[in-house]
Amino acid sequence: MELIDVHSHLQDKEFDKDREDVLENAKKVGVKKIITSTLDLKDAQISMEMFSAYKGFIYMTVGCNPCIMDEKEIEKIQSFVREKKIDIVGIGEIGLDYYWVEGEQREKQKEFFKLWINFAKEMNLPLIVHSRSAGKYAIEMLLEEKYCNVLMHSYDGKVGWAIEAAKQGFYFSIPPSIVNSSQKQKLVKSIDISRIMLESDAPVLGPEKDKRNEPQNLVFTVRKISEIKSLSEDTVSEMTTRNASEFFKI
Ligand SMILES: [Zn+2]
Repeated sequence: MELIDVHSHLQDKEFDKDREDVLENAKKVGVKKIITSTLDLKDAQISMEMFSAYKGFIYMTVGCNPCIMDEKEIEKIQSFVREKKIDIVGIGEIGLDYYWVEGEQREKQKEFFKLWINFAKEMNLPLIVHSRSAGKYAIEMLLEEKYCNVLMHSYDGKVGWAIEAAKQGFYFSIPPSIVNSSQKQKLVKSIDISRIMLESDAPVLGPEKDKRNEPQNLVFTVRKISEIKSLSEDTVSEMTTRNASEFFKI
């Protein structure tokens, strides 16, 4: 199998002790490429240093945790992307989080989301969207802005909206936590394999709750998708890898 992990946080402190082992274990099960996503300016700077020696294996997307409601920070991250001209394959994760953010703050969050959508348009890069408890609102905004070069990561919203978004060309990446999530299982059942990719979101969203997640756990996602879709594991791996290569141009 040749797999691509389209969303992880390998720079996370959780991996400081054994990052090399984690990467080796991923390679052993067939993970050929991993995309790591950053969440603030410091995270982007650390990741750039940390992974500069892993060209062709680890790729980066640069974004901002949607709960950081600070326009200055957003501007800094965007100039980092512009000035450094580092090799990034997407903007993200960015988006909406209605689990942690309530009331009027949600309107503010939408404004920031719009800034990021415009930035992705300007840079002509795909967007990796976080939409915890806000799937419908994120999809609505993206459709309004007519930006469909989008990967919805670990989407937890209603399947109906996902079907609508998939029709417009959106992709959905599925984490190993699908083994325990009826919502994720329903999502996979409802959208075509041509719209699906694999993500770990390591160190979270693993097959076992409360246990650190790693890219090697992509094999759990492959197995579950193959079961749900009645496709061989090889087919699931080939299709999701092709989707990821085309979307990120890697
Ligand atoms: Zn993430």
